Amino acid sequence: MVHESLVNVISLNGRRAVVTGAGSGIGRAAAVILAKAGASVLALDIDREGLSATKGVASQVSDVELDVATVDVSDLAAIESVLSDESLDIVVNSAGIMAPDSLATTSGQDWDRVLAVNLTGYFNVLKSAVPHMNRPGSIIQISSMMGHIGLAFPAYTAAKGAILSLSRQLAGELGPDGIRVNSVSPGMILTGMTQDDLSDGDQRHRIADRTPLRTVGAPDDIANAVLYLASDLSAFVTGTDILIDGGLISTLDL
Ligand code: NAP
Repeated sequence: MVHESLVNVISLNGRRAVVTGAGSGIGRAAAVILAKAGASVLALDIDREGLSATKGVASQVSDVELDVATVDVSDLAAIESVLSDESLDIVVNSAGIMAPDSLATTSGQDWDRVLAVNLTGYFNVLKSAVPHMNRPGSIIQISSMMGHIGLAFPAYTAAKGAILSLSRQLAGELGPDGIRVNSVSPGMILTGMTQDDLSDGDQRHRIADRTPLRTVGAPDDIANAVLYLASDLSAFVTGTDILIDGGLISTLDL
């Protein structure tokens, strides 16, 4: 759940934020919490209907400013055109897709498609947004616990590991210029991406039973960290990753 007290304490009034993948799941929760905290938010997604639903969720809160635009993050020219007139304080890269679950089942096309969205898509947004960013600025990249460990999904895991490295590299490059870069690594979160797996009660309970906090996560669990990293509460935080997985990969369930 969103801690309403956080939204009351953290003010992003006067800040402009862009959030990709904002038509569903974690991106939607991030866009809404940033808007609740007072930021003016541009929500991007390839899914027009998802963006309408996000706008609907945001409009249930009074005084929020949330614009939407349909765009494919793997298309650099399209992203550049959407962001060319923007003057951004906060950038959240969240758009992502899942991938086949083994080397044997991953085709060359699968590999290219997953990297085009989950890695090049993040680059495209950074390339287009950073020249227009205000200082101080904050970039938050949604990686994954799978970027930290060896698990199935070779293309997905490779992309998420690369996002951790890219975020650290950019923290060094952009920090002296007043832009912080951090990542958030979610564990198992109930969203559109995981609904096929986690809507099955048995599977959800199996994962929850292996998780020290005995539950899977919700999009707001990740959005709360995005809010912290977007705000001045994290003014001295850059080049780091916040792993939010209920403790799942901290333990070995032998
Ligand atoms: P989600 O509910 O599926 O949301 C992802 C959104 O990104 C969807 O609206 C999707 O649209 C959109 N998208 C896909 N390709 C796009 C493109 N080329 N251009 C623009 N938007 C595009 O999934 P989520 O769980 O919130 O995922 C958000 C991020 O968290 C992803 O980077 C994911 O890898 C990461 N993550 C999720 C989990 C988890 O357990 N859920 C765990 C670790 C990391 P479509 O639905 O039309 O594809």
